[in-house]
Amino acid sequence: MKKYFISLLALLLITFTSCEKELDNSPDLILINGTIITMDENIPKVEAIAIKADTIQNIGTTKAIKELAGNNTKVIDLKGKFVMPGFFESHAHLLALGKSKLELDLSKASNWDAVIAIVAEATEKAQPGEWIIGRGWHQEKWDPVPEENVGGYPINTILSSATPYNPVLLKHASGHALITNKYTMNLAKVDTSTKNPKGGIIVRDSLKNAIGVFEEEAMSIITNLYDKYLANRSAAEIKIDREKVFQLAVKECLQYGITSFEDAGSTFDEIDFYKSEVDSNKLPIRLNVMIYEKNSNLEERIADYKILNYGNNHLTVRAIKKYIDGALGSRGAWMLSDYSDMPNNSGLNVTPLYTLRKAANIAIQNGFQMCTHAIGDKGNREILNIYEKTFKQNPDKTDLRWRVEHAQHLSRKDIPRFAKLNVIAAMQGIHATSDAPFVRKRLGRERAKRGAYVWRKLIDSGTIICNGTDAPIESVNTIANYFATVTRQQANGNLFFPEEKMTRIEALKSYTINGAYAAFQEDKLGSLKIGKLADITILSKNLLSVPDYKLKNTTVEMTIIGGKIKYIKE
Ligand SMILES: [Zn+2]
Repeated sequence: MKKYFISLLALLLITFTSCEKELDNSPDLILINGTIITMDENIPKVEAIAIKADTIQNIGTTKAIKELAGNNTKVIDLKGKFVMPGFFESHAHLLALGKSKLELDLSKASNWDAVIAIVAEATEKAQPGEWIIGRGWHQEKWDPVPEENVGGYPINTILSSATPYNPVLLKHASGHALITNKYTMNLAKVDTSTKNPKGGIIVRDSLKNAIGVFEEEAMSIITNLYDKYLANRSAAEIKIDREKVFQLAVKECLQYGITSFEDAGSTFDEIDFYKSEVDSNKLPIRLNVMIYEKNSNLEERIADYKILNYGNNHLTVRAIKKYIDGALGSRGAWMLSDYSDMPNNSGLNVTPLYTLRKAANIAIQNGFQMCTHAIGDKGNREILNIYEKTFKQNPDKTDLRWRVEHAQHLSRKDIPRFAKLNVIAAMQGIHATSDAPFVRKRLGRERAKRGAYVWRKLIDSGTIICNGTDAPIESVNTIANYFATVTRQQANGNLFFPEEKMTRIEALKSYTINGAYAAFQEDKLGSLKIGKLADITILSKNLLSVPDYKLKNTTVEMTIIGGKIKYIKE
């Protein structure tokens, strides 16, 4: 009897506490008096949002949302500020972004002499033998052109005399070429007899001497040396370095209002690292990862790496990354006809088509998205062919959402194929304006007008475009990328085929809900809707109505992920 009484008491107690919990249904956080663009077509604009735990509990007028507040509800008065779903960066490189923060920034050097000055200063501070790493130079953006040059590329003579005892690796802005010094070429044993590796070029002068520039697959001659140096670090040193660059990258994302990030290529080892960061609560943003591994490795391990919404929706892996060609700047983009500024050169196919076909089969059999870097019109056509054939051979597999990363230069015939095949174009607004200074040279005006960064033509043909920056190729700056997307305005003020620009709302879509769709996450992310995750970015200006010339001055005021404030502008 006594026993019975005690259990009854316990039952009552449980019932009572759970009732009390149910009663406290008031939001943890409310945002009021805002200009809130939801990106939900049914209710496009509201004044206020209520958040409970990590989820949007309600949206509506300030009056209605205020009434929901309880004693413990935190209230943020937005004072009319612009609020949107968090930016979805759909294509960038997380660890490389972090690393770039530790490397010499050569992107603002106005000519080759300026590059050498930056490198020389760093070399003075370095120990002999220590690697000097830089990134972001682009010969097409220099004035004047280097005195000693081959097709515009500098010859490394002065660089070599400024760095006699240090290995040097200076990556081209496109990521598809590098320049190094004589010291490093000696270490790598490069001389007049060294053959070009498949899919790459060692750039040489008329006497067959290597000038220090290595394109595409030839870069590995130098990067392998650097990788060897890095591999000689202890496991503890590697972990510390990785942690450091990871946190630098994440911090940068939060500052630009990015709440979700699609990493365009990480190894299994790097994915293990991301997972451990999630486990120890060190990943505030949401990360989607494309696996970048050889086919043989994929075949062996891909099934173990399907990771969906791990760590409370913080880590997802369900895509693979491949490359079909290079970039336009380094003339590596695989074109249907020759470059206008280099006869007998139509670019490079960097991964054999049979390897890509095989990868497509691995992806479709394992329920993974295939995301292939394709820049040239030939590269795009060939990858669309491979996708089309793979889809046809697997009629039972639907809603695949395969992607072409960049989709920069398209033949007229291929533009409608994206929508027809339900292939997503993962494009980068900022690439158009940043590449503009050399696009006409490489392609000629007509070819550029017909097919270069043709967002308008793609959208009008029904294609879904998701937006991003390809950081660290470009800055991960969301505002600069949005500005480029809606204006096509270059740094010098010129407009680059402005008829292809997106409308403000299309650009916002490409940067939010389309990003979520391209990652199979539109049920949880990409718009501000009851029941979705509370990932929210607050800006100083209204991205839909501020005039173009003021758009660039917009700042990110606050970044909220899963209802928690992760960044506040100081
Ligand atoms: Zn990329």
